[in-house]
Amino acid sequence: MGMNETFDIAIVGGGPVGAALAIALKDSGLAVAVLEARTEFAARDPRALALSQGTRLILERLGVWDALAPHATAIETIHVSQRGRIGRAVLEAKELGVPALGYTAEYGDLYQALATGLPDAGASLITGARVTAVRPASGSGLVEFEQAGMARGLSARLIVLADGGKSLPGAVKVKDYGQSAIICTVQTEVAHGHRAYERFTPAGPMALLPLGDDYALVWTTANDLVETRMGWDQATFLEALQASFGDRQGRFLAAGPRSLFPLRLVTAREVVEPGLVRIGNAAQTLHPVAGQGFNLGLRDAWWLAETAMDYPCEAYGGAEFLAAYCKHRRRDVGGGIAMTDILVEVFANDLPLLSQARGLALSAMDMLPPIKQAFARKMMFGVQAW
Ligand SMILES: Cc1cc2nc3c(=O)[nH]c(=O)nc-3n(C[C@H](O)[C@H](O)[C@H](O)COP(=O)(O)OP(=O)(O)OC[C@H]3O[C@@H](n4cnc5c(N)ncnc54)[C@H](O)[C@@H]3O)c2cc1C
Repeated sequence: MGMNETFDIAIVGGGPVGAALAIALKDSGLAVAVLEARTEFAARDPRALALSQGTRLILERLGVWDALAPHATAIETIHVSQRGRIGRAVLEAKELGVPALGYTAEYGDLYQALATGLPDAGASLITGARVTAVRPASGSGLVEFEQAGMARGLSARLIVLADGGKSLPGAVKVKDYGQSAIICTVQTEVAHGHRAYERFTPAGPMALLPLGDDYALVWTTANDLVETRMGWDQATFLEALQASFGDRQGRFLAAGPRSLFPLRLVTAREVVEPGLVRIGNAAQTLHPVAGQGFNLGLRDAWWLAETAMDYPCEAYGGAEFLAAYCKHRRRDVGGGIAMTDILVEVFANDLPLLSQARGLALSAMDMLPPIKQAFARKMMFGVQAW
């Protein structure tokens, strides 16, 4: 095995979160390596992501927002409701004094925008490198990878897992919601006017996010219905969508190709270990109901870079360094996971009393500006925000 370049930080996975970390470390003077399994920093992925206002601010500081802005659609209004029940809340950017509540962008465009910042980040970019094992240790750990059919390795004081959580073994807690997300673009009779919808139905939440001239649909579907819905022809799909969503945007006119993502809450049992930190989806993979996954992962990257700047590199991966990082992240991550999970559980239940209580809660939020503002701030800047 070819071994032994030595780095201060090795980032495993150059997806949106790993790339953001490398860029955030730009002026640190540290020796950073990014190992990415793909042969280039580009991805075709049908996902559309809701990016919070806080995420925009971080992307601006990283110097990549300008590359993303032409591909991002502003969300100026969010309409939250439950199907067939009273109660709704409408969040308006104007009312909250911000230019937008958030933005929608395709995963591939976000990836591409971050990739524009990588060449200047000063990190060693090792592409086509599939990491096969990590052996973290306080002091210095090892990363083993395959590149062009060759087994290779490097050592690093700190190994950061940003691989999305699917490729390397690690103890996790899994909560299977028994649901999958069907996603596609849809065209509606009425133009979106920068209005997003979060609509809770007993079968799971559905979201419509403005994206370009269309909407990006995330339709949560119980697993036993997935095959049927994926198999529907266009007319049947649009008819069922209309029946589920209603006619607030007029008729659904067309839908793009559908993709499927199984929905589970997966959390790493240990976010940190001596010599290792997990960030982004490698630390927590959430249900997309509140559009929090990447937003939370980006803040992981940001705060890990901040912690790295606060300590000498000899301390990386040691107990004090890891505790400092965890202290920064505990409340935001714990709150984001809890909020997402509660939304899925509480809104998926069709017990009459519960649905009345939900309706009252939504109406109360709509009528009480301080509650609405507190909720909106948490959606825009994270659970720790006030
Ligand atoms: C349907 C759906 C809708 C969503 N909507 C939203 C939303 O509205 N808002 C939001 O904030 N989030 C949303 N998310 C979540 C968001 O997509 C993730 O949180 C985000 O992509 C996580 O980024 P990441 O970089 O941690 O992981 P990933 O995006 O999975 O990237 C991991 C990277 O690591 C690389 N890699 C993997 N294994 C290895 C290896 N062994 N060696 C080297 N490289 C490796 C991969 O090639 C990839 O580039 C949604 C998710 C889904 C499924």
